[in-house]
Amino acid sequence: MSTTLFGIVDDRALGTSMRLIVTRPDGLAAAKMAVDQVVKSIDDAASRFRDDSELSRVNREAGREVRVSPLLAQAIAASLRGARLTDGAVDPTVGSAVKLAGYDRDFASIPPDGSPINLSVTRVRGWQAIQFDEGARVVFVPRGVEIDLGATAKALAADLAASAAHQAVRAGGVLVSLGGDIAVAGDPPFEGWAVQTSEDSNAPINDGEETISIESGGIATSSITVRRWTRGGVDLHHIIDPSTGLPVVGRWRTASVVAASCVDANIASTAAIVMGDSAITWLAANRLPARLVDRDGTVHRVSGWPNS
Ligand code: AMP
Ligand code: MG
Repeated sequence: MSTTLFGIVDDRALGTSMRLIVTRPDGLAAAKMAVDQVVKSIDDAASRFRDDSELSRVNREAGREVRVSPLLAQAIAASLRGARLTDGAVDPTVGSAVKLAGYDRDFASIPPDGSPINLSVTRVRGWQAIQFDEGARVVFVPRGVEIDLGATAKALAADLAASAAHQAVRAGGVLVSLGGDIAVAGDPPFEGWAVQTSEDSNAPINDGEETISIESGGIATSSITVRRWTRGGVDLHHIIDPSTGLPVVGRWRTASVVAASCVDANIASTAAIVMGDSAITWLAANRLPARLVDRDGTVHRVSGWPNS
């Protein structure tokens, strides 16, 4: 029996954990450089926590047409594609609602408890209000609307980083995980890429946890159990129901989805949390294998997830 030795490096990026694995350990340094460059570019383009990001500038210029970089254009296109595919369950115009609920800075700086805040039920403006000319890379965000690319930009970074790292190594296979948003590129290991499905991306790799194997594309997990806080004793979290503008109150606390890319997996995992019960038929119609955990911890494996 042969033992496969991979090159692995752990780091932090985009406010979360990052892991890079290459099947050719001698390519690790080149792959890491490629990943770092992609991650930095995405942070410069799409961070909503940095006043100097390109996205912050677009939001400040709401009410005017703005020409954006190719990378931000790609991230905006991905978010609008998500909105179309999910009939608006994933909607980049949740920006103000996310902030109003209390998620207005890097998660590590958000106080876990605080005094009551005033929240009212208000449907978000809606993705159709964004005018985007993808060819010309010109975006128009109406005044009063804030774009949030949280549900797609990190996954896009994983997809782009995996492919850039693979190009840098020019052989073997690469896996990039950004806080549990995972993309792979190149030739997978013989037994596939083993991925542990945990609700918290910081959970240690543990023999007792459910593990699946993927060969291409990506996998993403969305959860309301980790990025959460309380205000005036009320539990709040980071996934917004666009129809109410408030944190989702629904059946699932965690959703993991496998798809042809990490972006598509992430669109579907966020959408599943928002859709609740109806996610099961939507996932099946889109042939997206998913693992859904309901509020009491019961696991539902649907749409071709192993053991479903
Ligand atoms: P994820 O953890 O991948 O499900 O992405 C959640 C992040 O996307 C949140 O932290 C928000 O920044 C943003 N977000 C929250 N709710 C939505 C929604 N309904 N549609 C699009 N983005 C959202
Ligand atoms: Mg995600």
